Amino acid sequence: VGRSGGVGEVAVVGAGLVGCLTACYLARRGYEVTLYERRPDPREAAPERGRSINLAISERGIDALRRIGLDETVLKAALPMPGRMMHAPDGTLGFQPYSAGGQRAINSISRSELNRTLLDAALGMPGVRALFEHRLTGLDVDSGRMDFDTPGGPVTHTAPVVLAADGAYSAVRGRLQFLPGFDFSQEYLDYGYKELTIPARDGGFALDPGALHIWPRGKAMMIALPNPDRSFTCTLFWPKSGPGSFAELDTVERFEEFFAANYADARALMPDLAGDYAHNPIGHLVTMRARPWHVRGTAGAVVGLLGDAAHAIVPFYGQGANCGFEDCVELDRCLEETGDDFPRALAMYGARRKEHADTIAELALENFVEMRDKVASRSFLLRKRVEHGLERLLPGRYASRYELVSFSTVPYAEIQRRISRQRGAVAAGALGALAAVALAARALRRR
Ligand code: FAD
Repeated sequence: VGRSGGVGEVAVVGAGLVGCLTACYLARRGYEVTLYERRPDPREAAPERGRSINLAISERGIDALRRIGLDETVLKAALPMPGRMMHAPDGTLGFQPYSAGGQRAINSISRSELNRTLLDAALGMPGVRALFEHRLTGLDVDSGRMDFDTPGGPVTHTAPVVLAADGAYSAVRGRLQFLPGFDFSQEYLDYGYKELTIPARDGGFALDPGALHIWPRGKAMMIALPNPDRSFTCTLFWPKSGPGSFAELDTVERFEEFFAANYADARALMPDLAGDYAHNPIGHLVTMRARPWHVRGTAGAVVGLLGDAAHAIVPFYGQGANCGFEDCVELDRCLEETGDDFPRALAMYGARRKEHADTIAELALENFVEMRDKVASRSFLLRKRVEHGLERLLPGRYASRYELVSFSTVPYAEIQRRISRQRGAVAAGALGALAAVALAARALRRR
């Protein structure tokens, strides 16, 4: 279906990060693609307030962009962050490189800029068009008939292949949830997030732009990523209720007082804290799991899920978009392997990707505890030193989990298997070393 010059088209619902990249990959294979997007054209409208302003793109995302020739364009607008900068309550700073050599970096990038670049790239390819202000409100899974709300009133389109890239609260997935045998779960964290800004100071960055800044505070934390305009976007992750929560600190006075007491160095750099508090909404953090990621209709249509529509995860490993970009690569690979048999390719893609998406969802939840609590501890620093030492000692044979998640394309579930093998080997090595020391001590005593 849908190859240029053939019949029909592929409908991609959602022209966000993953939808646009999907369109690029499909257009390269010769498909006719229509992107349906609920918002106005982002190249003409201001970005929505409260959606994360910047995000970290690492090797998986870059690899997906590289395969379609977009990595250089995207990275030109990115700021590399080769490590984390810890901010203690007394303002003491501590830098921790992400990789053993200190050269590997994750990249801070503006979400809206990235979206515009990907949209431009998609629309620059033959066979791709975008219909903005088209909000999907209904879908007949069997026939691929889609209903949209538009400023001119309701309209209907039909496509033999419908791909959902409409985000965590996917309307397409919402339709699939009614089907027998379709599993879906959502799990909210008891935490919310709010974005704050550290503006440029005297025309320069107020903090080191070569780091992802973290204010670990045990049960809560704040992070900050640099922007090309020399500001930082900070994201405050606080409990929703209880002590030190958004619910408790519900007036600007209480918020400011608590913030100044716990994030004093950042407070001094935020002239409009009260404005940010008042205007930026509290975002929710949710993990969503769905299965299967594709459904075949009885009247010939097929519907597939990609990106957050298939697997929304919490942001603490900086992998949501990276993982979504990997979906595009895998779908492309499956289309290649099946000779562009779309239903078979979607089944294969879902079967291959699901365990990896489930794994990164778990890792992202675990990393929250690490970031808000453990990164400040001595044992964490020691572990990092040992890991980096082993990486230098055993290049290619030992790599930390962070290294494999952020600086490789080893599938997420394979990382978990590799880490347990490595732990077993290190434990055996350590036991061997202890035994050797004990034998040497005994021999010395006998002398
Ligand atoms: P979205 O980006 O949500 O795009 C969905 C698109 O579909 C939107 O354009 C939307 O308008 C459109 N749409 C929705 N409903 C409809 C409808 N009914 N009809 C038509 N169109 C519709 N990921 C990283 O890799 N690194 C990070 O550092 C990172 N940081 C994050 C920080 C925060 C605070 C959050 C919340 C997320 C972060 N993420 C990060 C995750 C990342 O933002 C998502 O994984 C990514 O945006 C998913 O892309 P998507 O295209 O699947 O969905």
